[in-house]
Amino acid sequence: MELYKKYPVKITNSLGGKKEEFKPIKPPFVGLYSCGPTVYNEVHLGNLRTFTAFDIVYRYLTFIGYKVRYVRNITDAGHLTNDAGQGVDRIEERAKLEQLEPMEVVQKYTVGFHEVCRIFNIIPPSIEPTATGHIVEQIEMVKQIIANGFAYEKNGSVYFDVRKFMEKHEYGVLSGRNIDELMEGSRELNRQDEKKNPVDFAIWKGVSENHIQRWPSPWGEGIPGWHLECSVMGTKYLGKEFDIHGGGMDLKFPHHECEMAQNIGAYGTPAVKYWMHSNMLTVNGQKMSKSLGNSFLPRELFTGNHPLLERGFTPMTVRFFMLQSHYASTLDFSNEALVAAEKGFKKLMQACATIKNMEHPGGKAENPELDKTILELNSECFITMSDDFNTAKTLAVLFEMVNRINDFKSGNSSVKSISESNFKEFKETFLGFVKDVLGLQEETSQSDNLVKGVIELLIELRKKARTDKNFALSDRIRDDLKALGVQLKDGKDGDIDFTID
Ligand code: AMP
Ligand code: ZN
Repeated sequence: MELYKKYPVKITNSLGGKKEEFKPIKPPFVGLYSCGPTVYNEVHLGNLRTFTAFDIVYRYLTFIGYKVRYVRNITDAGHLTNDAGQGVDRIEERAKLEQLEPMEVVQKYTVGFHEVCRIFNIIPPSIEPTATGHIVEQIEMVKQIIANGFAYEKNGSVYFDVRKFMEKHEYGVLSGRNIDELMEGSRELNRQDEKKNPVDFAIWKGVSENHIQRWPSPWGEGIPGWHLECSVMGTKYLGKEFDIHGGGMDLKFPHHECEMAQNIGAYGTPAVKYWMHSNMLTVNGQKMSKSLGNSFLPRELFTGNHPLLERGFTPMTVRFFMLQSHYASTLDFSNEALVAAEKGFKKLMQACATIKNMEHPGGKAENPELDKTILELNSECFITMSDDFNTAKTLAVLFEMVNRINDFKSGNSSVKSISESNFKEFKETFLGFVKDVLGLQEETSQSDNLVKGVIELLIELRKKARTDKNFALSDRIRDDLKALGVQLKDGKDGDIDFTID
């Protein structure tokens, strides 16, 4: 039986706010969309928390047998400083500042983003579409929304007519916003603009010739509204109705609310079945953000060159730190939290190395009680992850498993005490969850590589000594390495393997 049938996934759906059983539209296929970065500056650790959260969703659904198509976009046009479609264009502004062509800005920060994802072991999505690559489709969607009577043109821009939309459909259900409060809140801000109602938002924005990024459209030259690209690219690659849409909590309104309205406005149906929102990474309780000046960039983290850090930390320590909390809770970033995470991560990696080299001698369980516990721990990994991707609880189970592994190693209970098949499953589950589901991997520093190289050299010299029948030398190399905690083990085909205590 497929693992996803044995361990059905539950998701807290932001639409309705309840934990629901996940029923994909066309199992075993799953369509997953998450909002990617706006490539106008370096990503900070807050952004990375969200990308990590959906990396985990992608990894786990794949691990339990779903065939996932994961689409994560790159916003390379149309994102203004005010999310309602007002303000300065972020990429244009950065291009002026750095004296670059807007597409140079886009290229520079897209490359940087990919590099950071690689370092943090965030798997590339199946499709990574860009807003600029889908201008034609965006114009088509605007036309469709106008044709359906939910948008109007004014001075070269096109606005979504929220009041008109609300005559037939609901607006505000995802974010729980009340339309009258929204009207009140945005009236002051948009007093002089060309919208019929302050809550209306731009789906196409006319721009002047000073704007470098601009495209021809039936309404004159302009740029697409920011919310439009996700409506277009999600449905283009995943279908008019698809399974999961994710993003950070701060995108719920207006971005996702508007996206949902656009989909209904164009196609008559909401596209998304399950909305997932990951919570914010905070610093002293405040959202980490570039504009608040409390953000950490990956490189500041590695070097420790930041006023709030006492030293540098590795990418896997940070990944581990993020997974210690459930994606829907806020997570506070601090030096102390990273120190604790580093300790936990190292302990987990040591257990991985130990179990990797552990073999079962064959045979049945000698301790049926322990055998049963081991089986339960295996299932617990799936149960906790299937429960709304609860990485915090899964890590707690994995640490239970670490205790068992250390017991096996120290001889407190031998591997023989559990059955051969359960041991195999235990090993596979533990390593599979650490590496494939949580994406935690060994970090080798330059000095680690050097030590490994020197040991391999000594192994070669020992081999030569044995061929020359110089047993005194070969024994000495083995014994001295042992005294340093390096155990040599005969592998297949005369190879020698080693482990470090
Ligand atoms: P942006 O490039 O600003 O569109 O943001 C990219 C992603 O990072 C979005 O999904 C945001 O919700 C998310 N994000 C921004 N700040 C934080 C934060 N402090 N914690 C978690 N996610 C964040
Ligand atoms: Zn989006």
